[in-house]
Amino acid sequence: MSDGFLFGMHYAKSKVAFGATDTVSRAILIQLADKRLGPLYRSCNMPFPIGHTAIGLATFETAQSPSARGSRLAPVLFITLLANLPDLDVLAGLILQGNGAVFHRGPTHSLLFALVAGYAASHLWRLWHRIPRFGFGLCSLLVFSHVLADMFLTSAPVSLLWPLEIYWTPGQNTWGQVVDMVLYQSYQDAGIAIAAVLYVLAVRMVRAALKGHSLNIFARKSIE
Ligand SMILES: [Zn+2]
Repeated sequence: MSDGFLFGMHYAKSKVAFGATDTVSRAILIQLADKRLGPLYRSCNMPFPIGHTAIGLATFETAQSPSARGSRLAPVLFITLLANLPDLDVLAGLILQGNGAVFHRGPTHSLLFALVAGYAASHLWRLWHRIPRFGFGLCSLLVFSHVLADMFLTSAPVSLLWPLEIYWTPGQNTWGQVVDMVLYQSYQDAGIAIAAVLYVLAVRMVRAALKGHSLNIFARKSIE
């Protein structure tokens, strides 16, 4: 059976499991999906934080005009946080149940979450002046870039339209496994990181060319 077929089946099972009225059927169906597809799912669980951060930075570069672009550490850290925010469900699962998979790719991997978290993030600067003042649209887009990356770059589904649909990741991810994945498997995102850097350079070149400026693609401040 192909990966696509297996995951299609798995997704269907997750949906049926969620729709099941009694918890026993739900548990059995989830277990079934877990047993058959858990190892396969784990082998396709990318991108990692590095990939999401690279995609977030590329998203920022696209959405933000060069004149508004700064070169400080705070925006990069803020972008990193927003682009990885949905995966806090792994941390929640580890802390609450000792299993990082238990809440993974549920409500935090949805359009609604991106909008709500984006709204909250766009007001955080009021709490501390060092927090960058990004607009609601940009903050939501950065969070949503994570959901889209998971959706298109991995085989396991996300809960895009939650609360209308929901997906729960099967399997078991302990603290050790999660730390191991982040520390030793992130190199698998090298392709995404390189693609993001090339994309950012291309965007800067096109913008500079359109304005008739020299192609100073490494300019850190406004090219005005
Ligand atoms: Zn994710």
